[in-house]
Amino acid sequence: MQIPDIIIAIDGYSSTGKSSFAKIVANEFSFTYLDSGALYRAVTFFAMENGFIDEECTIDVPELDKALAGLDVHFGKGGTYIGDRCIETEIRSLAVAGKVSPIATVPEVRNFVDKKLREFGQKRRIVMDGRDIGTTVFPDAELKIFMTASAEIRAERRAAEMRAKGEDVNIEDVKQNLLERDYIDSHRETSPLSKAEDAITLDNSDMTIEDQMVWLKEIMAERFGC
Ligand code: C5P
Repeated sequence: MQIPDIIIAIDGYSSTGKSSFAKIVANEFSFTYLDSGALYRAVTFFAMENGFIDEECTIDVPELDKALAGLDVHFGKGGTYIGDRCIETEIRSLAVAGKVSPIATVPEVRNFVDKKLREFGQKRRIVMDGRDIGTTVFPDAELKIFMTASAEIRAERRAAEMRAKGEDVNIEDVKQNLLERDYIDSHRETSPLSKAEDAITLDNSDMTIEDQMVWLKEIMAERFGC
């Protein structure tokens, strides 16, 4: 099977299963998976720890921007790192989820993350998931998928994921957080969440991960002959 040298961009609403799907796709085609949301979450965690964002989500943009110049965020064994500190558990908390979308509206933050993503993307053969990968980060990606699912199903999936990690969550809080993030993500001025014209929609409300893989393999075979 000849595997093409392409970029697969997966965008969509919060908790539509983008990262689970992207990881399986990467594994199936021996591509590298890159989670762009993790970088926004890492910047948020960094901003919270260093007092660049307060409880009301007021952001000290000039100071945050200055600090970003020295921020070493990268992916390593077990997930996302700042320097040699693994922050994977911290960035998945509801506390970080509650502040990440306001942080992701800041153009300076988006520039910082976009630059990192494009560096990673130079290697090609990657699957990247996020909100603006097919529209802004890699507008030339050869395959663009836009994922969606009902809010109820998304909240149930995210709550189950968080409970499995030991976080005590209420489904209504999780749903509220998802809807708030969807709203901010779709309405921000810089690179709002939107479906690229050439993206294919995948509504997985009633699909298992196996169904989604069958769907994708048909597209890969049709478009790229693999
Ligand atoms: O994908 P995940 O839910 O981890 O992303 C966390 C947040 O990061 C999103 O709600 C969104 O505000 C922001 N984000 C973004 N652009 C991306 C990826 C994530 O604005 N490409």
